[in-house]
Amino acid sequence: MRLERVSEHIWSLTVWVLIPVRVWLVRDPEGGVTLVDAGLPFMARGILRAVERLHAGPLQRILLTHGHSDHVGALRRIVTQTPVPVYAHAIEIPYLEGALPYPRRKRPQALVPKGLVTPLEEGPDGGLRRVAGLKPYLTPGHAPGHVVYYHEQDQVLIGGDLAMSKKGQVRPPMAIFTGDMEEAIRSLQILRELEIQRLELCHADPVERPAERMEALLRDQRPRLWPKPGA
Ligand SMILES: [Zn+2]
Ligand SMILES: [Zn+2]
Repeated sequence: MRLERVSEHIWSLTVWVLIPVRVWLVRDPEGGVTLVDAGLPFMARGILRAVERLHAGPLQRILLTHGHSDHVGALRRIVTQTPVPVYAHAIEIPYLEGALPYPRRKRPQALVPKGLVTPLEEGPDGGLRRVAGLKPYLTPGHAPGHVVYYHEQDQVLIGGDLAMSKKGQVRPPMAIFTGDMEEAIRSLQILRELEIQRLELCHADPVERPAERMEALLRDQRPRLWPKPGA
């Protein structure tokens, strides 16, 4: 497991199982650590050890980008050892609790015990409330309630499965695991709307200044990004 410093407040923790699987630790200026995503089951011990290694205080909370199994795997073990609140977008909760099947999947699957995950709070602006220096944004498509977390001070976007990357360019998320690719491509617009120095991704290398690294995507996906009026 590799612990790597991403920015002043953020570290990534990566394992390789054919592809990288990554989670993030975010140091809260008010003390303590926020975990973004919970990886695979065997990562639980390594995650808790990494929190200790930061010497930034105890784990305070877990934020999920979405509920796919490779993002909630270590959740149960972590909260058993360190009971902390877990948050995801309200839209995502019925899917990860197994009340609804994820789009394009036959059966619902209860990946997380019912009631363990709490909805992210709404803020006064109608968006989602900031938590521990991170502003969540709903970016549906890969999963119905997928969110990304923007660290405003560090200008880092923790993207989860928002996208992939190849040769330093932003690419669409993995097709076989993506519920609605049209919507997922539209959600990539966020990369041009926020001031992002570094885009962190769960299964691919980070992308520096992603707004300038979308040429390949625009070439292939222009009709999806900007559908013709009335089309
Ligand atoms: Zn996913
Ligand atoms: Zn994933």
